[in-house]
Amino acid sequence: MPIHVGIVCESCERVYFIARTDRIEFLAETGEYQLVCPAPCGVSRRFDKQRLAPFSVKTPHYSRGYANRGEYELVRTPAGYTNTVDGNTGPFSASL
Ligand SMILES: [Zn+2]
Repeated sequence: MPIHVGIVCESCERVYFIARTDRIEFLAETGEYQLVCPAPCGVSRRFDKQRLAPFSVKTPHYSRGYANRGEYELVRTPAGYTNTVDGNTGPFSASL
């Protein structure tokens, strides 16, 4: 399956893909991102980019901007991994 960069909502375990969703907002003042998970979850939290991680996901799920639990796999990668699909660079934390 293709690999895309996203953040998992720790409450409902849905993954949002940063390049495809409007549920993730970059906060310029703090340099953090804010994830707002819609109802019925309703959790809002801030995270820094180190928390972004690569996920293996089918294209239809990526295209809609999120994948539910069971629709994705967290890809464990070594530090320094570069995701050429989304154009993001830099090490990803594998400690999600
Ligand atoms: Zn959620």
